[in-house]
Amino acid sequence: MTVTDMDTDCLFCKIRDGRIPANITYRDDYVLAFADIGPKAPLHDLVVPLRHMATLADASADDAEIYGRMMVVASKLARESGRAAGGFRVVMNAGPDAGQSVHHIHLHVLAGRPLGWPPC
Ligand code: 5GP
Ligand code: ZN
Repeated sequence: MTVTDMDTDCLFCKIRDGRIPANITYRDDYVLAFADIGPKAPLHDLVVPLRHMATLADASADDAEIYGRMMVVASKLARESGRAAGGFRVVMNAGPDAGQSVHHIHLHVLAGRPLGWPPC
């Protein structure tokens, strides 16, 4: 990993590196998933790229593969939880109005209860 692939102050880089514990639910050479510490639904996992990327607002065509990989992992987690058929939601908050609080991109994978729409 190059220096631009990490951020020493980033919470999710620390989880990736094992410096902060987490309930890891998936890992491959590109993507990591773990349980959200404050679950908003019976299934609430976060899917993150191993490489530090701050926000969806910076996405370019070069990032298409990693975003695709993250979505595939989100689907796999929903299926493996047994909750995919009942319905699930995948959310990525970007920027202050959306409430992004950790500046390492992450998909929220939520399932196991009716999910309201639109989000408030
Ligand atoms: P955001 O608000 O940026 O879209 O989502 C950040 C998520 O990270 C929140 O749902 C929050 O509960 C979760 N989170 C914050 N700190 C930790 C932590 O230390 N460990 C884990 N597993 N999740 C965290
Ligand atoms: Zn990071």
